[in-house]
Amino acid sequence: MMLTNPHARSAADCLAVLAATPEGLTAPEAAQRRAEHGPNRLPEARTRGPVLRFLRQFNNVLIYVLLGAAAVTGALQHWVDTGVILAVVLANAVIGFLQEGKAEAAMTAIRGMLAPRAAVLRDRRRVSLDAADLVPGDIVLLEAGDKVPADLRVLEARGLAAQEAILTGESVPVGKGTEPVAVDAALGDRHAMLWSGTLVTQGTARGLVVATGPATEIGRIGGLLAAVEELTTPLVAQMDHFARWLSFLILLASGLLLVYGYFVGHRDFSEVFMVVVGVAVAAIPEGLPAVMTITLAIGVQAMARRHAIVRRLPAIEAIGSVSVICTDKTGTLTRNEMVATAAVTPAGSFAIGGEGYAPEGSITPAGDLGRLALAAALCNDASLHCKDGIWSVEGDPMEGALLAFAGKVAGDHGGRRLDAIPFDSRHRFMAVLTDGPSGRLTHVKGAPERVLGMCRGIDLHDWHNRADALARRGLRVLALAEMPQTANRIDPGALEGGLAFLGLVGLIDPPRPEAVAAVAECRAAGIRVKMITGDHAGTAAAIAAQIGLANPHRVLTGVDLDTLDDAQLALEVADVDIFARTSPEHKLRLVTALQAGGLSVAMTGDGVNDAPALKRADAGIAMGLKGSEAAKEATDLVLADDNFATIAAAVREGRTVYDNLRKVISWTLPTNAGEALVVVLALLLGLSLPMTAVQILWINLITELTLGLALAFEPTEPGTMDRPPRPRNAPILSGGLVWHVVLVAGLFLAAIFGVFSYAIDRGYPLALAQTMAMNTLVVLEIFHLFFIRNIHSTSLTWAAARGTPVVWAVVIVITAAQFAVTYLPPLQAVLGTRPVPMLDGFLIVGVGAAFFAIIEIEKQIRLGFKG
Ligand code: ATP
Repeated sequence: MMLTNPHARSAADCLAVLAATPEGLTAPEAAQRRAEHGPNRLPEARTRGPVLRFLRQFNNVLIYVLLGAAAVTGALQHWVDTGVILAVVLANAVIGFLQEGKAEAAMTAIRGMLAPRAAVLRDRRRVSLDAADLVPGDIVLLEAGDKVPADLRVLEARGLAAQEAILTGESVPVGKGTEPVAVDAALGDRHAMLWSGTLVTQGTARGLVVATGPATEIGRIGGLLAAVEELTTPLVAQMDHFARWLSFLILLASGLLLVYGYFVGHRDFSEVFMVVVGVAVAAIPEGLPAVMTITLAIGVQAMARRHAIVRRLPAIEAIGSVSVICTDKTGTLTRNEMVATAAVTPAGSFAIGGEGYAPEGSITPAGDLGRLALAAALCNDASLHCKDGIWSVEGDPMEGALLAFAGKVAGDHGGRRLDAIPFDSRHRFMAVLTDGPSGRLTHVKGAPERVLGMCRGIDLHDWHNRADALARRGLRVLALAEMPQTANRIDPGALEGGLAFLGLVGLIDPPRPEAVAAVAECRAAGIRVKMITGDHAGTAAAIAAQIGLANPHRVLTGVDLDTLDDAQLALEVADVDIFARTSPEHKLRLVTALQAGGLSVAMTGDGVNDAPALKRADAGIAMGLKGSEAAKEATDLVLADDNFATIAAAVREGRTVYDNLRKVISWTLPTNAGEALVVVLALLLGLSLPMTAVQILWINLITELTLGLALAFEPTEPGTMDRPPRPRNAPILSGGLVWHVVLVAGLFLAAIFGVFSYAIDRGYPLALAQTMAMNTLVVLEIFHLFFIRNIHSTSLTWAAARGTPVVWAVVIVITAAQFAVTYLPPLQAVLGTRPVPMLDGFLIVGVGAAFFAIIEIEKQIRLGFKG
């Protein structure tokens, strides 16, 4: 069963060769083919192997410095130093390797959550499958916005066009049809084919799968997938850049220090050399990039747990800083579980009973709704299924609700579809031509404004009022109409003014309770929520009031927007929270207008036409369930559950990650600066060094990396969603941070020198004084860690002291490690330490507590001024 050149054969021929039918394969047949052809998946792109990843850890300025230092100390025959330096280099590489591996694994797992799905006919029924389960011979249904899941021979096409840039490089969508083309036509000219990995930009199609997985065109050229994402965001990139220049600066300064110490200070070369290496290591924040990367990876996981899937890392930062969220209504603020509750026809008004999608319920008063029900059933692409007594819908929930309504009305609602004009949010209606029990009819359903205008012989004004009345009750309103036909194609021109009006149907779509809470949370967090919907103004306003938007009284419609110029729009957009009857083009204008006002905009979208607005927004958010692949590809963030509450959760997580990155930076930099100052000062004053180079290495590459890591796991600080959003483009190295670095580095300097001088005064040997200085530094680091955990509030609460399991785990590990290097003879030999007397141990902890008290009081004064 090999199908060659499907583009040049007729559709019937292709079906015959693949032993397929237009109704789809049966499940056993599909299973057998699946076993034969394998999954419809491209071979995994080869990622960097572990060896290469491990070696990459050594590609870092600091490591070069250390390896150089190891060589020099080796030449000077200081074997212990050489050994320690090499051990530290190795330990650092192993830690970096493990962290990076974890971060990459986390990202890969999350990308797997976005596996594409496909609508397929199996056993004559439309089902949604994992695209990996497609086999040759399957019949796939596609609509605008879908990604083509395999190579397909088009069997049926309506207004079909696809964008095939990934395959042909041509970014303009090409029209598609069913007619075969010449055997030797170029890929881009094979109009009867849809290629795996390309995007349907317009229309609908039914296609026969002719090749899957590696047999597809994209599979054959081995394209796609390969992109390995860099684990970075603007902030992290900025810090990387900063760290790199800082390293060079420090190396330069260290070189000068070496020259100064040797030629001016007349010190022994090997001694000065080790000191200078110590300064360089002390000052360079080598652990910072690794800890920041892991912070991001943990943020990505936390978001995924809350159903927000990060496609590109910068989204984490962007979502945390948004000041406006523009959201869809249907399915995001509301449940998208629709029930038709009201029908209004020229014969009167009817209440429709029943619950869910079950086609059972009473209609009061009794009346003849047969024609309306027939239109609702035939002008419809959804289907209802009953499993264990529970009815569910496959397809659009609104159409499912219409099917349920039709089921409540007696009569035969079957028919054979001859032609259709699919729904499009731009023309807001759909039409279907069917041979049915009442003859050949075109049925139309759509937005009342649109459909009423196409009908003849009705009182337009009166019916608009009735539609508005339904909308004001928060109902979604559809108008239905019909037209007898003789032709077997729909002539769109003939519909205008040629339809006979049947009636209105009102559907409820209740707000999600969690969305109400989330909107309130956003408002407390200084974030304005705006609703941008294709729905009726009245419906939108009613739902906005139920949801609790700031201003539910003013609505701008798409028509209003078209009359405003950009300047007027920028003014209006600040105050109005509801935009109704909009089309996707309006979204782009709204984002631009809001951004012009200096706001950071999050925008949701689901359709193929939403892509430009989603790309333009600071944080584009696609719907995972009802969103098209095109929208997902355009965004950085995908909501797995389409729920507005998830956006609020993502904002909270985004703010948390940003806070944690800031905490990592504010914790690391002063430690490095303090250490470096201690050594430089000692060198300039001609004093003995308070810490040896090896001890500095230990502190910087082991204790600092381990303790700093705890900050990556910090939970959200209380009050995070009560703060206003941070200003757009706020620099990370702000005045506040610089002040913190100066203050803490100064205190570190004073404390370490203080303890060191005290020990020397007491007549302790130099090695013991150095041991005490080193332990002081670690104690200061630990106290500083507890301080940094609460940068926006006090650290003097029970909750703050209780910390998190991670914080206590690293503190215990590091404390144990400090005891070991201080008291265990073999380690003493390596690090040149001496046992510290117990009372002096208490003194060191006391110094740490005093340091904590000072910075905490300083913070309270600062917060007091702000508050
Ligand atoms: P949101 O942007 O909040 O998701 P929406 O889903 O209501 O809004 P659209 O899908 O653009 O926006 O729908 C706009 C209008 O078009 C609806 O209010 C309805 O009147 C009409 N409409 C929607 N879906 C269909 C359909 N399948 N057939 C006919 N008309 C439809």
